[in-house]
Amino acid sequence: MTAEPVSPDLVVAAPVLTVSGAVHAYGGKPALRGVDLVLRPGEIYALLGPNGAGKTTLIRAICGRIRPDQGVVLVKGLDPTRVAGARSGLGLVPQEIALYPNLTVAENIQTFAALADVPRAGLAAAVTRALELTRTLDRAHVPIKHLSGGYKRRANIAAAIVHQPSLLILDEPTVGVDLDAREAVDAVIRGLRDVGVAVLMTTHDLDQADALADRVGFLSEGRLVLEGEPHALIAEAFGERMEVQVHLGHEIDAADEARLIAEGLERTSRSTVWARLEADGYAAAGRLGRRLREAGLTPREIRVREPSLAHLFTLVADRKLAA
Ligand code: ATP
Repeated sequence: MTAEPVSPDLVVAAPVLTVSGAVHAYGGKPALRGVDLVLRPGEIYALLGPNGAGKTTLIRAICGRIRPDQGVVLVKGLDPTRVAGARSGLGLVPQEIALYPNLTVAENIQTFAALADVPRAGLAAAVTRALELTRTLDRAHVPIKHLSGGYKRRANIAAAIVHQPSLLILDEPTVGVDLDAREAVDAVIRGLRDVGVAVLMTTHDLDQADALADRVGFLSEGRLVLEGEPHALIAEAFGERMEVQVHLGHEIDAADEARLIAEGLERTSRSTVWARLEADGYAAAGRLGRRLREAGLTPREIRVREPSLAHLFTLVADRKLAA
């Protein structure tokens, strides 16, 4: 009997990471309440959630630093708390720069390669590959302490990938870096995805998650309450509606606030920016602007835009969207 040929479209790569029913508590206080998460090669997954949601606990479980009270964590099919091979399949980039400041970029990467048991014969090639993938080759012989913030972040990533992990975990990879440096880090993360690495990142920067992630997951009180491809989630939650944003040029008093609320507007994270969702965004924005001007509340600007991941996140955090 001959086997049927399998269409390449039907071949789904085996998961790099499988978390199934993970439950964990600290001293009886739940931190994870049943988390399921599957990551395959070549995808970027952004783990989102407010402080205390359980992100760090989940990452500790994936890295084998804690064993969940219940459930299963497998990295390339192996239990990271028991099997060293599972741990060597992952790389962790901590939020803080964890490099030797007096050593050069290349010396740091060599040091981390030795710690990760990269064979001596393949060491030079592994270091060059890590430098290339993180676009730090031009700074290879510069001590870390003399690098810009963006290069330090990328060198931090280089140290975590020198042993060629299948799963790379980044904790807030661009917190506190300027826009140019952030874009350079984002490009490195995309490049790693393109060579087949599965990337799991935590971020509070929803615009970054929107731009970078193939899938996002919202963790809330130890549960993944929403998960999916960013634009599909936004489309599902908001349909055709657009966000109308009213930008006020000045701080407002209680009477103005009541007026804005009566118009169905809600305050955003900035006190002078208010927003609402509208099916016919542009026409509604025109009508709204006229009414506000008549009420003596002349907006500096009214913008109409597609709802963002930040908007969705606000709804989830405020429990206005059923999970
Ligand atoms: P953040 O964004 O602030 O880092 P997080 O989403 O990473 O938050 P965790 O650090 O996983 O959240 O915390 C989840 C819950 O577990 C919180 O209520 C936290 O107070 C608690 N917790 C975390 N680590 C410990 C610990 N070592 N001992 C006791 N409680 C802990």
